[in-house]
Amino acid sequence: MTRTRIAVVGSANIDLVVAVDRLPEAGETVLGADVVYRSGGKGANQAVAALRYGAETSLYAAIGRDTFGTQLANALADEGLDVYLRRDDDRPSGVALVVVDGAGANTITVSAGANDTLSSDGLADLGAALPETDALLLQLEIPLETALDAARRAVAHGVTVTLNASPLPSEITEALWELVALTDVLIVNETEARTLRAGGWDWAQRARSLLDRGPDVAVITLGAEGAVAAKRDQVVTQRGIPVDAVDTTGAGDTFCGVFAAEFSRGGDLRRAMAHACAAGAIATTRVGAREGMPSRTAVAAVLT
Ligand code: ATP
Repeated sequence: MTRTRIAVVGSANIDLVVAVDRLPEAGETVLGADVVYRSGGKGANQAVAALRYGAETSLYAAIGRDTFGTQLANALADEGLDVYLRRDDDRPSGVALVVVDGAGANTITVSAGANDTLSSDGLADLGAALPETDALLLQLEIPLETALDAARRAVAHGVTVTLNASPLPSEITEALWELVALTDVLIVNETEARTLRAGGWDWAQRARSLLDRGPDVAVITLGAEGAVAAKRDQVVTQRGIPVDAVDTTGAGDTFCGVFAAEFSRGGDLRRAMAHACAAGAIATTRVGAREGMPSRTAVAAVLT
C-alpha cells in the first residue's frame, strides 16, 4: 500500500512548559515546577502526528539561528520528518510559554519570532513536491499571506487543503475568509467556531453553517465531548473516547494531523473522525504535546 503524502506548512516552536497546581489569574503569581523544554509549534506538532499515524510527511517552517533553532532542527530530523527549514539571521526562534495545571488544563502564550519570516520564498521546495502530495495541512502560526500562497499552489495541483484555523488573529480579515474559501477541510475548536461566527442551535448546525464560507468539510472539535463534522449531505457526530486525561496540550494538533492523514486516504469522513478523535484522546494521556501522539496501531487498538 502506498503511503499518504502530507505537506505541512507551519510553525516550529520551543515550548517552555511549567506545571502548576492551579493556573494563575490575571495579575497573580503562582509558583511552578522546573521548566521543561519541548519541541513544539502547531505546524511541527501536526506534522509529527501525521507521521506517527503512518503518513510520509514533510514540514516547511522557519526557525532562528539561536540555540533553540538548533534544538528544533535536531528534534524534527530525529522524528523522521522531511524538513525544509529556513533559518533567519535576525529573529529568534518561536517560543510558546505553556502553563499546565494538575487537571490538565493549560494556558499558552506564543511568541512567533522566526515563524513570521516564513514567506513564499521559503516554499520553492513545496512547489516541486506538490505533484506527489495528497494533502496540504495549514495552521495560522505563520503569516497569512504565506498560508494563502501555499493553499493556492495546492489548489492548482488538485491537492486537498486542510486548514486548522488556529490561532485566529484578533481581526478576521477578508484574506482569512479567502483562505477558508480555498480549503477543502476546515478544522476549528469551539472557541474558534464562535469567532468565525458559526451559527445554529447545536454544534452540528454550527459546523454546517461554516460550509457557507467555502470548505467541503467543516469540523468542530469539542474537547472531551469529541467532535462534529459537516459536509453538504452528511453530518458525523463522534463521541469523545473516555480517557484519564493528564495534559490536553497537543490534543487538537494530534486530531488535525491524523484527520488530514486519514481523510486524504479515501475521503471517508466517518473513519477520519473516529481515528482523529481516538488519537486526540490518546494524546491527552501523556504529559507533553508529542509524548502521547499515537501510532496508527495504537489508534486502531482503541477503536476495536
Ligand atoms: P488543544 O489546544 O488543547 O490542543 P483544541 O482546543 O485545539 O486542543 P480539543 O477540542 O480540546 O482541541 O481536542 C481535540 C480533540 O482531542 C477532541 O475533538 C477530542 O477528540 C480529543 N480530546 C481532547 N480532550 C480530550 C479529553 N479530555 N478526553 C478525550 N478526548 C479528548
